[in-house]
Amino acid sequence: MHRMRAFGSGLLVLVAAAVAGCSEEASSGGGSGAGVSSGGGGGGAGPVGPVGPISGEVKRYDVAFDLTTMALRSTLSIDVAEPGGDCFDIDCALEVSDVTLNGNPAGSAEVLDGKLSACGTGSKAGALTLAAHAFVPEGTAGGLDVGFSRSKNLAGGSFAYLLSWVGGCDRFGPCDDDPSKLVEFGFNITHAPGNVVLCPGALVPGSTNTTCELSGTLAPTYSAYALAADPDWVRTPFVKAAGTDLVFYEVPGGKLRATLDASAVGTMLEWLTTTLGPMPYGPELRVAGAPTAWFGFEHPANILLREDLPNYDGDPYANTTMHVLVHEVVHQWAGDRSTLASEADFVWKEAIAEYLTYVFEDEHGAPGDAAASLAYWDEIALGADYHPRPMDQPTPPLAKFYGDVYGPGPMVLFVQLESMFGRPAILAAIAAFLAEPGSRSVEELRAALELATKVELKAYFDAWVFGTGKPEWPTVGVETSQLGTEVTVTVTQSTPSKKLHGCLVEVDVVGASKTATALVDFGVTPTEAKKSVTVSLDEPIVKVVIDPRNRLVSWHAATATQERARPRRKAIPF
Ligand SMILES: [Zn+2]
Repeated sequence: MHRMRAFGSGLLVLVAAAVAGCSEEASSGGGSGAGVSSGGGGGGAGPVGPVGPISGEVKRYDVAFDLTTMALRSTLSIDVAEPGGDCFDIDCALEVSDVTLNGNPAGSAEVLDGKLSACGTGSKAGALTLAAHAFVPEGTAGGLDVGFSRSKNLAGGSFAYLLSWVGGCDRFGPCDDDPSKLVEFGFNITHAPGNVVLCPGALVPGSTNTTCELSGTLAPTYSAYALAADPDWVRTPFVKAAGTDLVFYEVPGGKLRATLDASAVGTMLEWLTTTLGPMPYGPELRVAGAPTAWFGFEHPANILLREDLPNYDGDPYANTTMHVLVHEVVHQWAGDRSTLASEADFVWKEAIAEYLTYVFEDEHGAPGDAAASLAYWDEIALGADYHPRPMDQPTPPLAKFYGDVYGPGPMVLFVQLESMFGRPAILAAIAAFLAEPGSRSVEELRAALELATKVELKAYFDAWVFGTGKPEWPTVGVETSQLGTEVTVTVTQSTPSKKLHGCLVEVDVVGASKTATALVDFGVTPTEAKKSVTVSLDEPIVKVVIDPRNRLVSWHAATATQERARPRRKAIPF
């Protein structure tokens, strides 16, 4: 799996003194775990237990962090599988010290090639705790907020942000950065008096110490291993709806809360909980404004919104501030409570967040809100360099392809199928897909859509969703002939490789005063590249418009340039 390393692959750590190390055989990973413990598991001195590499899953992270010194101690609760062992390996992109196993100093602990290998006297199957100390350096990667950073808020104060993202929690010490894992978290943040700290889950603020507990509903490390702090934040109630108390954190002069309509946000909470079930992470949902790189981020029970979002109202979305808020709230279910089976499956969580936001805009927003979202996705989709679910081997680095999911994702996974099968079937598929917590793949989403639409979608997904290299979106051309009031509309789809794409093509046949809409349905498994339908128009045709409502990712052959203009706008991920 790709891992972003800001600090290089670490090396070295320490060897704790006066403790029995693991055997040569075990530390080199050659042991088979044949030993039998006569006592409990654990590191340090004591009865010798099983030897060999430990196979185990981290179930919980307890993170103690001092925001002033940036000293961090993480304690991992690991469920050790049979037969146990004496060395545990875990992702770790940072030098660590003071490594313990079950509270005893590790016999040896070394960070090499992005992995910490900690060895003790052997642990049987069952519970094992591994703890390590680290200093988190300030620094971010790729112009994003990934890492730990301090930046100036719009009031001139200092905002601090610790953010993992997909594959990145090992920047802060030992952490399994597999995005498919759902775990518990406990945070204990020491800070200057009066600092306002947000961490995921149930939050207990204090003057110099803030704690958070995330258990019950679990979350992935990419969104939950995070904290944000700003001494200028003022906490203000905003709206209570659907069993949720949505509160705002903004610095003086912040415009997010003032830009949003509380009653519309309440309607959104009612609609989303009706569609997806109760809010996953408890009754409080905190929304904070900050000088972040991304438009928003979906931490469990905490949503960060970029503080200057209102400047983007009108472009790219009609109501960008509300759009991003709805998108991040959807992520509480789609991306937090349910997570990615793999990095390559990234598209589904963004596509669901975008599609449900569009449905909300269409059913509860202002006129034009939903149309603006469709027009934006349709435009940026043409610039995608990767398929929505890239099948390239090895999987390209996430930073390279994730921006390409925001337009094609909601279009090909949902909007185009909505055109053919109706919105209720698509919403039913999404609700079923997210009904239970767990990790999910795009292939599982296809299965959910097939159940809801009662249609085999393999050919459709193979044409639109799965693939290697740059996607080959179809070029759509239209011919019309008019005989009296009858207009025959013939649509041709083409790609250089002759691959056919399942789709329904809308064509507006426009007269001087009237418009007739032709719906040319190729089905999800087309066998012909050309299809005709007839519509009625009792005046001469003035012009023909392909895909007038931006419901199909395609190039349009009918324009003067033979090809639709290149997209003007680029994807803005969030
Ligand atoms: Zn998102």
